Amino acid sequence: MFAIQMIYVDNAATTKLDIDAFEAMKPYLLEDYGNASQSYSFSKKSRSALKEARTVIAQCINAEPEEIFFTSGGTESDNWAIKEFGLIDEPKYIFTSTIEHKAILNACRHMERKGIKIGYIPVDDVGVLRLDELEKQLRERKRSDSIGGSTLVSIMLANNEIGTIEPIKEIAEIVHRYGAIVHTDAVQAVGHISIDVKEMKIDMLSASAHKFNGPKGIGFLYVKNGINIRPHNDGGFQEQGMRAGTENVGAIVGMAKALRKNIVELKNNQNKLLQLEKIIEGGLLAENIKYVRNGSQEHIPGNMSLSFKGYEGEVLLHRLDLMNICVSTGSACDSEKTHISHVLKAICLEDELAMGTIRISLGKDNNEDEAKRIVEALAKILK
Ligand code: PLP
Repeated sequence: MFAIQMIYVDNAATTKLDIDAFEAMKPYLLEDYGNASQSYSFSKKSRSALKEARTVIAQCINAEPEEIFFTSGGTESDNWAIKEFGLIDEPKYIFTSTIEHKAILNACRHMERKGIKIGYIPVDDVGVLRLDELEKQLRERKRSDSIGGSTLVSIMLANNEIGTIEPIKEIAEIVHRYGAIVHTDAVQAVGHISIDVKEMKIDMLSASAHKFNGPKGIGFLYVKNGINIRPHNDGGFQEQGMRAGTENVGAIVGMAKALRKNIVELKNNQNKLLQLEKIIEGGLLAENIKYVRNGSQEHIPGNMSLSFKGYEGEVLLHRLDLMNICVSTGSACDSEKTHISHVLKAICLEDELAMGTIRISLGKDNNEDEAKRIVEALAKILK
C-alpha cells in the first residue's frame, strides 16, 4: 500500500526552507563559521556575507542597509518596536488594531501594565482598519495632550488569519499628520507582496524569514534613519550597538537568499496562488458546499479563511489531518486553545461561522492536483 502524499497548506504558520537558501547557508555553518565581529582574516567571509545580506534585504524593501537590524524573528522585532520606541523617560502613547498578532497585542499589554495608554482601533467586516476611527483617536490624543511625548501607531501590513492587506500608506499619511510614527508588522507580507518602505511611508517594519521560505529563528526590524528607538539587547556592539549578540550569519544569508528569490518570482507566485484559490473555491461551489470566505479582496495570495456553518474548525482540522492535509484553524499561536479567535470576533463574524473556520494557506510549492485533493477531502467530510 502507498502512503498518501502529505499536502502542506499551512504556509502562514511556516514555510519550507527554499533549497537555494539552504545551499547558500551551508558554507557559513560548516566552513566559514568565523564570528563576524572578529578582525582576523578567517572572519572576513562571514563579515562580507553579513554586509551583502543586509544590502540585499534593504534593496528588497527599498530601504538603506543601515536601516536593517537583524533579530530572531517577528516576535522579537514586534516587541522591540513596541517597547523601545521614543526617547528615554518621555511619555508614550500607542495605538494598534484589534486584529494584531499576539506578539503585538501582548507587548502592548506589557506597556499598559507600565502605565502607558494603548488605543485599540477597530476594523470593518473584512478586516480593514477604520481610518475614521484612527483619525478620531489621534485627534483626541492630540487635543488632550499637554505634556508631549511620542506616539506610535502599530498596524499590521497583512493579517495572518484572514490575509487582509491594510492600506498602510493611507494609514501612515494620517499618522504623520498627527506627528506620530508608524510601525507595521509585515511578517505575513514580506516576500508575498511588493513592499517599498519609502513609497509606503513606513517608519518601522517587522519581518520573519520562516514566513517566506527562509530559515526559522531569524528576521529583521527596519528602522527608518532618524527614528528614535532604544537598543533591544545590551551587550556587544553588533547591529550598530542596537541588538547585541553574535550574528547568526548562516541564517541571515539564507534569509537574504530566500527573500530575493521570492521577490524575483513574486508575480508568478502570486498568479499561481490566486489560480489555486480559484480551483478550491470553484470546486467547493461545484460540490454545492456552503461556506463563507473571510477577509478582503485585497489579501495575501493563498491565504484563505473559510467558515462552514454547523461544523467545528478543530474537527475539520483533525479530519483533514487524517487525510494527510495540514491546515490551521486560525493563527498557529492560538491553535492550542479552541476559543473563537479575536480576529474573527473583530470582523463580527457570527459565532456559529467563526467556530467552523479553517485557514488554508497555500504556498509556492503547492499545485493544482493538491488544490483538487483538498476540495475532494472537504467534500467527503462535509457532505
Ligand atoms: N506577526 C505575525 C502577523 C505573524 O503571523 C507571526 C507568526 O505567526 C508573528 C508576528 C511572529 O513571528 P515569529 O514566528 O517569527 O516570531
